[in-house]
Amino acid sequence: MIWLPPIFYAIWLLIFGLCIGSFLNVCIARIPEGRSIVTPPSTCPSCSARIRWYDNIPLLSYLILLGRCRRCHTRISPVYPLVELAGGLIFFSLFLKNSFSAEMVRGAVFLCCLLVLFFVDLHHMLLPNVVTLPCAVIGILFALFHASPISLLDALGGGVGGALFLMSIMGLYYLFRGRLGMGWGDVKMMLAIGAFLGVKGMFLTLICACCAGAFYGLFLLLFYGKKLDHALPFGSFLAPAAALIYFGGDRLFELYVSVLQQYLVPEFILR
Ligand SMILES: [Zn+2]
Repeated sequence: MIWLPPIFYAIWLLIFGLCIGSFLNVCIARIPEGRSIVTPPSTCPSCSARIRWYDNIPLLSYLILLGRCRRCHTRISPVYPLVELAGGLIFFSLFLKNSFSAEMVRGAVFLCCLLVLFFVDLHHMLLPNVVTLPCAVIGILFALFHASPISLLDALGGGVGGALFLMSIMGLYYLFRGRLGMGWGDVKMMLAIGAFLGVKGMFLTLICACCAGAFYGLFLLLFYGKKLDHALPFGSFLAPAAALIYFGGDRLFELYVSVLQQYLVPEFILR
């Protein structure tokens, strides 16, 4: 086989990822409405004109058309090129991190699911079972076949532990407020996150997502006068937190422990 520099493969994977991102856009738009993600072909949401292949080239078409439909000139949501770009960057960065390996495939499945869940929850306050449950099963299967950096026990413990942990928070909230603070979709999403990241990664994800959610809630409270029980799409906080932990979990864990050691817990307890 001819040797080619890694950047050659990286660029091809970037382009491949852009196309996957284009498909993820279809998933984000259609899954919450219960429509097929295969047929019919994409149309403009405003004038229903069929989108031709040359207007459907990831990222490029959006730039050439200056973000408007060719026929009716209605503005196209910038979410479309953003998701395409994210898809490209997912594959590009996974190749740089893992080269061609089972871990690249595992990471791609996980991060693509997170991308879909982020936008669906943001738009619809919904985390569809058709994404969360297969994602959890795939995470367990990778661990089962030793194609994952975490063991099967860790994957099961992370998934089930994460789901139970969130359910106990929901239970406590219900006791005090008389209603559920989160949805069952969040519980199933935790199942998937734990299956991919293990117990440690699952807890770090929860900590990051809760901190981000709390800051965002405080921001809404102070600047937009929203009430404290204003509903937030928790899945949209979990998804970027899980992606962050996937890429830098170990370093973040070391940082977290060192902060605990230095400031919060007297040294003799940790010794
Ligand atoms: Zn149109």
